[in-house]
Amino acid sequence: MSEPRYLDEVRESSAYRSIAADIDRGEFSHAYFILSEDKDAIDALFTLIAMKAYCKDACGVCAECHKVLVRSKPDVKYLAEGKENFTVAEMSEVTEDAGMTAFEGGRKLYFFKNFENLADAPQNKLLKTLEEPFDKVHFILSAASTATVLPTILSRVKQVTLAAFSTENVRKALVKSGVPADRAERGARLSQGSLTRGREFAVDEDFARHVSEVTDLLLELKSTADVYRFLREGIFTKERIERTLSMFELVFHSVMSAHLGLPMLLEEKREVIESIASSYSLAAVGAATDVILTCRARLKANCNATNVADYLLLKLPEVKYKCRS
Ligand SMILES: [Zn+2]
Repeated sequence: MSEPRYLDEVRESSAYRSIAADIDRGEFSHAYFILSEDKDAIDALFTLIAMKAYCKDACGVCAECHKVLVRSKPDVKYLAEGKENFTVAEMSEVTEDAGMTAFEGGRKLYFFKNFENLADAPQNKLLKTLEEPFDKVHFILSAASTATVLPTILSRVKQVTLAAFSTENVRKALVKSGVPADRAERGARLSQGSLTRGREFAVDEDFARHVSEVTDLLLELKSTADVYRFLREGIFTKERIERTLSMFELVFHSVMSAHLGLPMLLEEKREVIESIASSYSLAAVGAATDVILTCRARLKANCNATNVADYLLLKLPEVKYKCRS
């Protein structure tokens, strides 16, 4: 795998600095919980912590850092990557592994992404290990939110928030990672401080068309009778629905800006945004934004894409009608 991006940017974060300071003081906690939605930034933070655990300066060039960078250190494990579920049996393997001697005789690190996706049972399995930690074994968990994390887990970890980046820092980071300047500008403006989100919007070849598909839908969706027709559109497939929800958020954000007379993120679509604003009042935009949040939560809870789209399309005409000005 290629070297993670954004190491320099994340090195400046207060999250990294506080963990690095713990390590420098000899107080590397046996368990951290990193709160952030920004997956790319979390990847960078994991890498930095692993380098720091074996190299005082996390220099990025010595043999130890190199092994971390190419993920060839046997005592550094990355769990549940790209995986929705993690079973109790898999967690048992992890906790057993944690009890064994390190290959290289030093620290052992377990990085655990998307911890919020874990069911209670595997979380409980890990809990015992967190309660009775092994010497020189460290768990670094990360999640976008703590809502589904057991309070007993949270009470055993040191919580660290990886804060959002400034728009300007996202723009610079995107440019540095090879994104053309105009696209980096667009991505940064839409990033809400997330490097991951910024990049997604910056590199999206399909961006303009996707936005138009969503604005067309909002202009044409008059009543629940239209729902069936839109349900079959390509923007609600399993693969695209999450991005489509982002596009809805983006469009509604611009509609809100139109109501408030603020500069809008989709300036190039001003005319169509204003026409949506004429049928969605400010209150309707607020209610629609809540509907989209619910859709995201349902997707996270493994609802299928069609059901989520169905809910969205039924609710939008409803909020438009209820909150008409
Ligand atoms: Zn080094």
